[in-house]
Amino acid sequence: AVKERGRSDFRFYQRHMNVGLLSRMKLDQALRRALDADLLELHYQPKLGIADGRLVGVEALLRWCDDELGEVPPSRFIPIAEESGAIIPIGQWVLERAAAQAAAWAGRGWRVPVAVNLSAMQFNQSDFVESLGRLLERHALPGELLELELTESVLIADADDAMRRLHSLRELGLRLAIDDFGTGYSSLGYLKRFPIERLKIDRSFISDIPGNEEDEAIAVAIIELARALRLAVTAEGVETAAQKAFLARHGCTEMQGYLVAPALPADEVYARFSGRE
Ligand code: C2E
Ligand code: MG
Ligand code: MG
Ligand code: MG
Repeated sequence: AVKERGRSDFRFYQRHMNVGLLSRMKLDQALRRALDADLLELHYQPKLGIADGRLVGVEALLRWCDDELGEVPPSRFIPIAEESGAIIPIGQWVLERAAAQAAAWAGRGWRVPVAVNLSAMQFNQSDFVESLGRLLERHALPGELLELELTESVLIADADDAMRRLHSLRELGLRLAIDDFGTGYSSLGYLKRFPIERLKIDRSFISDIPGNEEDEAIAVAIIELARALRLAVTAEGVETAAQKAFLARHGCTEMQGYLVAPALPADEVYARFSGRE
């Protein structure tokens, strides 16, 4: 009955509202319901050392499979959640779930750093650093088993304030990475001072290498920048052996992508990558 009513409301609004607006609202409401109904899941994508093939960590990626909407990709719902503010409770859930998983794996002897993507709104919450401290305590999780992936836009909004927060997070032992590097506007001067461990080269610069000379030049420049700043550098979206060979030849330290594995459910990533059974 509830479903019936939902549908007729939908038709009613469809006649009276802009469809683009409606679908964002509808998605946002469905997303909040999915969070409450525990329909969100985290999958984990491995990150390997290019030279030795060793696992260096996994990245937690949100998955939402809705009864009515089917699989909704993060590229569709994350921007909506960021606009509506739903990213705050969702991001909190992600941190909680990822920390619990990292602690559970550590308890079974698999000490794998788990990386979590962070939205600007989360990072800018005034109690963000404190709440992360409490999160680690709650799960008895060593800080070095949790990594935060931030984008350049998060860091430039208020660079001095961001710098203070990053240093506090480092004091908790957390690892920090800059995600989608090369697509934003970070100042190289700040980059030098941010207490980060790794740059992740955006997939858009990886997909057409080798072959596209501009993308090759950008990828190589980021790798060399990382080397000069003594940072690890992860290529995102590596799908082919040719891409891997190009990256290896230019000194890229890590890779992530379908060539290794997509994001997998927790038990599968454990079965395939923990070196246990
Ligand atoms: P991202 O953090 O840059 O994650 C990488 C994206 O590339 C993921 O898409 C991953 O599944 C995809 N990918 C990995 N390897 C390959 C490959 O070889 N080929 C191709 N074509 N794609 C590959 P996904 O899971 O759809 O996530 C998209 C974006 O949504 C993420 O980009 C991230 O910005 C955001 N996101 C995902 N989960 C969360 C979350 O928990 N919190 C926040 N704030 N954002 C999230
Ligand atoms: Mg990421
Ligand atoms: Mg990325
Ligand atoms: Mg990306």
